[in-house]
Amino acid sequence: MTLANKLAEERRARLAAERLLEQKQAELHAANRKLGLHARALSTEITETRAEVQTVRDENQRVKSDLGAANQKIEIAERRLWHSIQAIEDGFAFFDADSRMIAANKAWLAVFDGLEMVRPGISYIEILQLITEEGIVNIGDMSRHEWREQMLDRWQGPAPEPQVIRLWNGHYIRLTDRRGAGGDMVSLVQNITAMIRYEKELKDARGRAEAANRAKSAFLANMSHEIRTPMNGVVGMADLLAEGPLDDEQRLYVTTIKHSAEALLVIINDVLDYSKIEADRLPLHPEPFDLERCIHELVTLMQAHARDRGIDILVDYDLFLPTRFVGDPGRVRQILTNLVGNAVKFTEAGHVMIRVTGMQAGEGAEADIRISIEDTGIGIPREKLDHIFGEFNQVDDAKSRKFEGTGLGLAITQKLVRLMGGDLWVESDEGRGSTFGVSLPLPVAEAAIPEGARPDPRIARALVVEPHTTCRALLERQLAALGMEVTACADASAARAQVARDAPDLVIVDHHMEGMDGFELASALRAAGHAMPVIVLSPNSGSAAQDPARGAVQAVLQKPVARRDLLTALAGLTPPAPAGTGPADPPAKAPPAPRAMRVLAAEDNKTNRLVFSKMVQALDIELTFAGNGREAVALFQSLAPDIVFMDISMPEMDGKEATRAIREIEAREGGHVPIVAMTAHAMNGDDTEILAAGLDHYLTKPLKRAAIVAQITTATPPGLRPPEGAPTQAVG
Ligand code: ADP
Repeated sequence: MTLANKLAEERRARLAAERLLEQKQAELHAANRKLGLHARALSTEITETRAEVQTVRDENQRVKSDLGAANQKIEIAERRLWHSIQAIEDGFAFFDADSRMIAANKAWLAVFDGLEMVRPGISYIEILQLITEEGIVNIGDMSRHEWREQMLDRWQGPAPEPQVIRLWNGHYIRLTDRRGAGGDMVSLVQNITAMIRYEKELKDARGRAEAANRAKSAFLANMSHEIRTPMNGVVGMADLLAEGPLDDEQRLYVTTIKHSAEALLVIINDVLDYSKIEADRLPLHPEPFDLERCIHELVTLMQAHARDRGIDILVDYDLFLPTRFVGDPGRVRQILTNLVGNAVKFTEAGHVMIRVTGMQAGEGAEADIRISIEDTGIGIPREKLDHIFGEFNQVDDAKSRKFEGTGLGLAITQKLVRLMGGDLWVESDEGRGSTFGVSLPLPVAEAAIPEGARPDPRIARALVVEPHTTCRALLERQLAALGMEVTACADASAARAQVARDAPDLVIVDHHMEGMDGFELASALRAAGHAMPVIVLSPNSGSAAQDPARGAVQAVLQKPVARRDLLTALAGLTPPAPAGTGPADPPAKAPPAPRAMRVLAAEDNKTNRLVFSKMVQALDIELTFAGNGREAVALFQSLAPDIVFMDISMPEMDGKEATRAIREIEAREGGHVPIVAMTAHAMNGDDTEILAAGLDHYLTKPLKRAAIVAQITTATPPGLRPPEGAPTQAVG
């Protein structure tokens, strides 16, 4: 190989090497650049990661410190709470859902008096076990087992009732346990010993107060009884004395004794009633009663006195208003007695009208009864209208007093009316009269007009003969309400002319009329050939029934006539047979020799027996006395009396017991003899008790002759000799 070749070859080889070097250098450069880039990226990444790590570390640090603060707060709150729980007097404990104690305060643990086992972790069952074993609780008659069972049942219930238990030392604690979320139980224990002692003291004090009040009531009852019993003798004897031959001076003395005694009784009753109402000791005793009858009874009692003074008492009882209501009849009577008594007392001439109306919202609903008592008396000045309802208040002041009275009547009446949920008001025109109104809400105890009480439809035209305008208008209205065609006139001669013109189907006539009285008119009509039924209304139906012309009339009714009596009498009428247009048949003869009425009176007090016998002396009755209840029952069986007057307080067997015994006999053997209580008891509730024992009526002592006579006359069975007439034959 030539040198040149060699040189060329070497040059080529060098060139090739140089190119390779260049290429490798380029590659190295590229690799270096890449490495540089990568290293830079890595370094950036490291920087970022480091920053992140720092942030997380910071965050962590903050959370840690927050948590620390929160923990600290929780600890403080928990400490405070526990501190409070420890500080309160009541026992406090928590149990978990497995009934294991979580914690309990000192008061809760105190009950266990330092027993070490009672601490967090102990179960409720173990606690109960300890309680019974250590005798911590007074478990009474129960066995330990029973007591634990009972307590456990309670504890496991969803909402345990609070329970009071007595500890060994006589203290009382109340357990209140509440179930919380997750089945935890919170148990609260309160020591209520002081409260229970206080309650007991209150109960004892109340018992003592009630006993004192009962003693006071008993004292009042006794006082009233003790005063009334001798007063019966005073009033009764004065009454009898007044009827004997007396000179004017003696008569004045006797009347004064009588009036003073009566005034004293009114005062005693008023004061008693008022003190009872004031002390809220006046319960009402509602029962079904007949309002119309009650009004008529009280009118009968007051009428004698009113008539003496020339005043009529009229009753206008709405014909379509029921008469039986549920209320306290004794108290309703007392309200009306006060108002009607005042009306009579303060009226010198004219009349007193008792109007009864009412509204009922629907069948079976309570009726709103309105009773107004109108008088034509002296009236009340406008400025005194409110004043008179106050205690001891009267229109006249003490200096110019003309009328007797305590001034308590209206105050009592108003309180009674309000007690019944009603209202009392007055309207008055001085010098012309007053109207007192009472509203009473009373449940209705019957349907309005009794079935079968409608008169025969053939009795369609009635003639009313009544001199008194108000009475006449009232009767006209009542008959018209029954669908009758009514004409009216004021005296017998007008009536005769009217009958001659147009004979009515019925004549209703007043007993007492100027010229010709009711019976004489009836006889005159019969003589003139008229046979229509005639009804006589008389303020004294008992004695009127003995009128020689009684046979000429169909019925004699007590005036003012009770709606029920009028309806019954009308329903009992039959029109005369067509042939009867001629003179009426002579009245049927009474059965031969009717016997006298038998009256049994049970009364242990000798003076009162004397008073009673003197009071009925003028009656044609057979009177027998029993000295006590036992005798009364025996005589009831042997004598078969028509009416019994029964004293309530009697030795051996009292009037109530005797009445119960008589009612039992009647339940077996049939019949019902009216029994009238005679009592000196004026205390509240006595009348209810007496009527509940089976007595029909109630008279308080001092007895009034008129009331006794009215009871006997009303009770006279048909076919007996009318009691008002010949003298009594007293027996026994
Ligand atoms: P008392 O009748 O016992 O005085 P009340 O309380 O019943 O007591 O009546 C108070 C007063 O109201 C009576 O004294 C009388 O002045 C007046 N008063 C009551 N009712 C009437 C009446 N119907 N007419 C006139 N004045 C009356």
